[in-house]
Amino acid sequence: MMAQYLALKADAQDCLLFYRMGDFFELFFDDARAASATLDIALTARGEHEGKPIPMCGVPAHAAEGYLARLIKAGHRVAIADQTETPAEAKKRGGSKALVERGIIRVVTAGTLTEEALLDARAANWCVAIGEAGGEVAVAAADISTGRFELIETGAANLTTELARLNPAETIVAEDSAFAEAATTLRPKPGFDSARGEARLRELYGVATLDGFGAFSRAGLAAAGGLIAYLDHTAKGALPFLRPPVLRNTRAAMAIDAATRESLELTATTSGARKGSLLDAVDRTVTGAGARLLAADLGAPLLDRTAIEARLDLVRLFHEDGGLRESLRATLRALPDIGRALGRIAAGRGSPRDLGQLRDGLDGAWRLGEKLGRIEQPPALLADLAPRLRGHGALIDLFTRALVAMPPIDASDGGYIAPGYDAALDDLRDTGAGGRRAIAALEADYRSRTGIASLKIKHNGVLGYHIEVAARVADALMAPDSGFTHRQTLAGVVRFNAADLHEVAMKVSQSGAHAIAAEAAHLEDLTQTALDGREAIAATADALARLDAAAGLADRAVEGGWVRPALVDHSCFEIEGGRHPVVEDALAKRGERFVANDCKLSEDSRLWLVTGPNMGGKSTFLRQNALIAVLAQAGAYVPASSATLGLVDRLFSRVGASDNLARGRSTFMVEMVETAAILAQATPRSFVILDEVGRGTSTYDGLAIAWAVVEAIHEDNRCRCLFATHYHELTRLAERCDALTLHHVRAREWKGDLVLLHEVSEGPADRSYGLAVARLAGLPPVTIKRAKAVLDKLEAGRAKTGGLAAGLDDLPLFAAAAQEEEKTVDTLRDVLAAIDADALTPREALEQLYRLKALL
Ligand code: ADP
Repeated sequence: MMAQYLALKADAQDCLLFYRMGDFFELFFDDARAASATLDIALTARGEHEGKPIPMCGVPAHAAEGYLARLIKAGHRVAIADQTETPAEAKKRGGSKALVERGIIRVVTAGTLTEEALLDARAANWCVAIGEAGGEVAVAAADISTGRFELIETGAANLTTELARLNPAETIVAEDSAFAEAATTLRPKPGFDSARGEARLRELYGVATLDGFGAFSRAGLAAAGGLIAYLDHTAKGALPFLRPPVLRNTRAAMAIDAATRESLELTATTSGARKGSLLDAVDRTVTGAGARLLAADLGAPLLDRTAIEARLDLVRLFHEDGGLRESLRATLRALPDIGRALGRIAAGRGSPRDLGQLRDGLDGAWRLGEKLGRIEQPPALLADLAPRLRGHGALIDLFTRALVAMPPIDASDGGYIAPGYDAALDDLRDTGAGGRRAIAALEADYRSRTGIASLKIKHNGVLGYHIEVAARVADALMAPDSGFTHRQTLAGVVRFNAADLHEVAMKVSQSGAHAIAAEAAHLEDLTQTALDGREAIAATADALARLDAAAGLADRAVEGGWVRPALVDHSCFEIEGGRHPVVEDALAKRGERFVANDCKLSEDSRLWLVTGPNMGGKSTFLRQNALIAVLAQAGAYVPASSATLGLVDRLFSRVGASDNLARGRSTFMVEMVETAAILAQATPRSFVILDEVGRGTSTYDGLAIAWAVVEAIHEDNRCRCLFATHYHELTRLAERCDALTLHHVRAREWKGDLVLLHEVSEGPADRSYGLAVARLAGLPPVTIKRAKAVLDKLEAGRAKTGGLAAGLDDLPLFAAAAQEEEKTVDTLRDVLAAIDADALTPREALEQLYRLKALL
């Protein structure tokens, strides 16, 4: 057995091996140590290997799912080795001592789950592969729990942005790839061959050419090939359900890089929780599929105005008609998750209950389709969705006749095929039921014959039906002519058989076995019927999710008084009465009111410099506007009293380093790398929020960097930008930059106390209120007093010298400075080129150096 175990383990070195023994999965050696630590179960020992006891632990097979879930969550992969023949077959093959053949039937990994218990119902579960070919880079992504399959031509530049959007459970990369760092799983290179990938895709969809799906790059084919090879590997050849790949263009969605996603907390907070994220504040969906779609929508806001308006039209329908919205949501709430049920069925792990879920889900969809089909002048998206909800009439009818109302998860005991569906099956069941009645009659008969009132007929797996009496009265049945045959003596009870019982029992068990076999055959047929319709079923599941997402957004808009955003072609951003949904919710819980603020960016005022005291609401204001852009382009209503915006192609959000100290990186370095990315990528259609950039270093450095960044954004990137800063000196930029305007969050000192009004007004802040904030924060009065004395000294000094920003007014304009810089470089280059180094004496060389330095 150990030899068999070690051979299997050799094939699964990066996994914990679950080795099936009877009713348990056992783990040995290091696997046992790791699993017992993670699962907190007892580590025992069994036998010896190379003279040492073998560490072992085990989990019951019937409860394996829960243990698997915990191991996967802890970052393990698990290979499941099960018996691939019955003990009887093994005996026939190799005699009574033969070992039952076992094989790895599946590798369970975070990216290849389909089990309900192991998945988050409200989140997608992406398994992603990165492909490279001819210098191009692409990503293939599959959510096998629902069959979604995307190919994304990212190029190297957008790779991390795209990975941030998908937030994969598992990332597969070829062994020698430059992207190995991004991988959770490295796989052999041949799987990523683009020609093989193409052939595998053609084979998978039974097509001669892939042209019908779109124009894939070699890198895309390599990624798809790598992904499918991996799924083949984990499912051991039984490839799960993959719908035809959808080609996704990164230019079709607003680009939001990883740092921006993190800082805006779109779908998770910086600590990774869903609670406190934008998604959490917006999500009012009532189904898992709706929640998954909403998360995907918020993660990839659209750039196509028609598509956005189509989504908004659907939200408006449910926004305006409360009755329709409520009845739709009530229906959806009761529907099972047919997308995931189908995923399990297609992965070969479907249960009778999954088929029941399909029936109930599709039936509900049909009724919804009927209802929504009656709406007059439906929005375009609804007209498109409603027909997809119907169209499964034959399947619903068949499954309704074939299955009982609540089919069980476990098929092994039968009982899921409805009476009346199959006359032969009904007969077998009648025979079984008749037999069970006959057995009850026999029990009564035996009791009266023996006079033992406590005599019972029982059933177990070893003896089948048998008679059981208490040991003290067993003698009467022991007599040779009693008609009973002794089978077993246990403590306290003795068990017997009898010829007439044996006969009836045979009938019962035979008819039972036949009935179970008949049910299994029906299950197979019904499963096939479901699989034949899987494309259409998946489309119905998608349509339900879209309706749920739209109705949920409408519900949220009604609840919060949100409005439909107006999208325009020019690059403006005009929000009246804008609010931050997460902060507003948090304040409401404390009984406080959120102060709504306007934001009006236009061609001649596209950069707002926002100053004001700490805690005054600058960050909140910046973020709420970025979030409004995300919501609007995702096709949602927005938290404002009115909103008009030109589409945003790229969104950036950066927060000055000291806010992120908890992340424990060289934070100023990170801040600068991220700021560099904005300067390199932001276009005139982009939207940028910068919160206290430059704060992570000394005052002079920080001010200088902030100054230069604002100038560069104003002159070069020319994007819409909100820039919050506590460097009051930056307000001087208003004189040089014509599209930059000054704003501040208002505060007032009242009877010595600071009152933060959280109101954004025009003009610069009059003072910094730093000491007042410190007092508010509870700094001891003596310290405040001392700080006040220091401040007075500093201010006196500033008055004399002209302060931190003295001399800045003499600085040439950004463009002039850049030109000047170029000129110097040109001159240096000329002078250097003219030098003949070989002809110089050391002394002459030194002189030349001085000359060069003088040119700087
Ligand atoms: P700053 O960036 O200026 O330091 P924040 O934006 O972090 O300030 O806001 C600090 C706190 O002030 C928030 O946590 C919130 O409680 C409150 N706040 C911010 N904006 C508003 C607002 N518009 N209305 C009400 N309270 C607000």
